Amino acid sequence: MSNVCPSSPEALLTRQASAPVNLLGLTCEQLEAYVQGLGEKAFRGRQLFKWVHQLGATEFQAMTSLAKGLREQLVGLAELRELPILRDHQSADGTRKWLLDAGQGNAIETVYIPEDDRGTLCVSSQAGCTVACGFCSTGHQGFARNLTAAEIIGQVRMANRLLDPSGRRAAVSNVVFMGMGEPLLNYEAVLSAVRILLDDNAYGLSRRKVTVSTSGVVPFIERLAAECPVALAVSLHAPNDALRNRLVPLNKKYPLAELLAACRVYLQSGPRDFITFEYVMLHGVNDSLQHARELIELIAKAKLHCKLNLIPFNPFPASGYRRSSPENVKQFAQALQAAGIVTTVRKTRGDDIDAACGQLAGDIQDRTLIRMRRIDVGSSPSALGSQAL
Ligand code: SAH
Ligand code: SF4
Repeated sequence: MSNVCPSSPEALLTRQASAPVNLLGLTCEQLEAYVQGLGEKAFRGRQLFKWVHQLGATEFQAMTSLAKGLREQLVGLAELRELPILRDHQSADGTRKWLLDAGQGNAIETVYIPEDDRGTLCVSSQAGCTVACGFCSTGHQGFARNLTAAEIIGQVRMANRLLDPSGRRAAVSNVVFMGMGEPLLNYEAVLSAVRILLDDNAYGLSRRKVTVSTSGVVPFIERLAAECPVALAVSLHAPNDALRNRLVPLNKKYPLAELLAACRVYLQSGPRDFITFEYVMLHGVNDSLQHARELIELIAKAKLHCKLNLIPFNPFPASGYRRSSPENVKQFAQALQAAGIVTTVRKTRGDDIDAACGQLAGDIQDRTLIRMRRIDVGSSPSALGSQAL
């Protein structure tokens, strides 16, 4: 087996002989190395990088500050390819959802959620997911493949372009890896994408405005802390190992004690002084006051500065779970708050997409996707079981 890194200059130049290189997924450094391989000075790579991400150019010929010869070379050797759009769905409140074709009958979704002071894009990192959480429709569909860095960053570029075709204003101010897939099980591609998001010559987002949400892949939480810390959300969902093993099967590999220890390590280098814990509220499963007490104790023992985000479950037919009642969610939240834990409840909007108030309702998302799936991609397994914020 070759041990050449797939995005090293050698590998990129070798690939030129065959398939075009998709430049969307290359960091500035990699692009500099790439153009040097073509006999150009490194700064041309940075210029190219700005054209691709800051200016959103879709064709090499439009990159007028690059020499004509280089542009022509790029036309023959490289490409700027995003996943094709299968469906573009816009709700009255400005929430917009794209279903993208990941090939071979697979589709992924990207969701834009506008709010007064920001525009959040929820991106997918994999087509499907191997973690197989029973309450998640992505988890139910199995795993198709990892997305490439180009396919991840392509979602951001596409959203900015379609949301403001004039290119004057970048609509996306925040990116959350809360779409389809487990980002830390596609670490290298996600890392490149995050680096591009943070780069001032590309999207220039601050570390606090990029959130990676994980079901708890401990070794990669530690690597992200060391290599490129951004805001971290951890899908907790249960206050003890027995229940978490059932809800998030990855817990059998990385149990709570290890996960919480990794969160503590993360806080030392992360851009925020807290970890966000996501907790999906499942009726009769993890939503009793006894669970709340256990959770309070777990957090106190872990000595972790965190915030709790309670997510009302978004039902889908095969899940077998039910959403906790609003009263139950309220009581659970109050118990946590009384213990001094900052707790928020993610709003759902029920059936009426017009009643939306800037927060994505997974209900709508799921139902839309199920409908889209029927219409567009036959038996494609695409559907998010998640909410974006
Ligand atoms: N794989 C990552 C990120 C994608 S899921 C993770 O699990 O964190 C984003 C969030 O949506 C996670 O907290 C996930 O547990 C939650 N989620 C998944 N299915 C859901 C459902 N049916 N209802 C509500 N939240 C769900
Ligand atoms: Fe995968 Fe996250 Fe869904 Fe679990 S909740 S199956 S980790 S996408």
